[in-house]
Amino acid sequence: MGTLLLHACCAPCSAAVIEWLVDRDVRPVLFYFNPNIFPREEYDRRAMECTRHATTLGLEIITGEYDHAAWLAAVTGLEREPERGARCARCFEIRTRATALLARERGIGLFATTLASSRWKDLAQISAAGQRAVTDLPDVTFLDRNWRKGGLDERRRALLARYDFYNQSYCGCEFSATNRVSPPDRG
Ligand code: SF4
Repeated sequence: MGTLLLHACCAPCSAAVIEWLVDRDVRPVLFYFNPNIFPREEYDRRAMECTRHATTLGLEIITGEYDHAAWLAAVTGLEREPERGARCARCFEIRTRATALLARERGIGLFATTLASSRWKDLAQISAAGQRAVTDLPDVTFLDRNWRKGGLDERRRALLARYDFYNQSYCGCEFSATNRVSPPDRG
């Protein structure tokens, strides 16, 4: 069985991707690295759900450092950008780069991100961030996939119901909290 480091943004976005990988004999190691999320209680809640799901499936999960101040510093000047704008591109770069570096550290040659399973996000931005994350890491490859296609969007909804995940109403940072949707169907 192969392995892959999977950046997990939240349980609802991760479940169908994990299922797809396991069905293809790939055992993912999950990496919950999301210093963008604010407030801390929201970060912890999403982390708990990812851990609960990984535990249920018997998968390893690594939790990254939560340094929201550093994340804020990295997006300085982009606070007023709309979702899918330059702040999000930067946010994706931060998270994919950390995942690529951890993959190298762990000797895992492949990484992916569940960010690309959310219909609220710009796939081109995620793809560019993932590719850029490995430009100086010849031993790591970014698995650049559209995780919404091939029935995965339907599986996302089915697994959300099956596992009764907490499902957030906004993307994650304080700047996105004004774009809440109801009923919750975000990721
Ligand atoms: S809206 Fe979401 S993707 Fe964009 S900067 Fe905020 S947390 Fe990151």
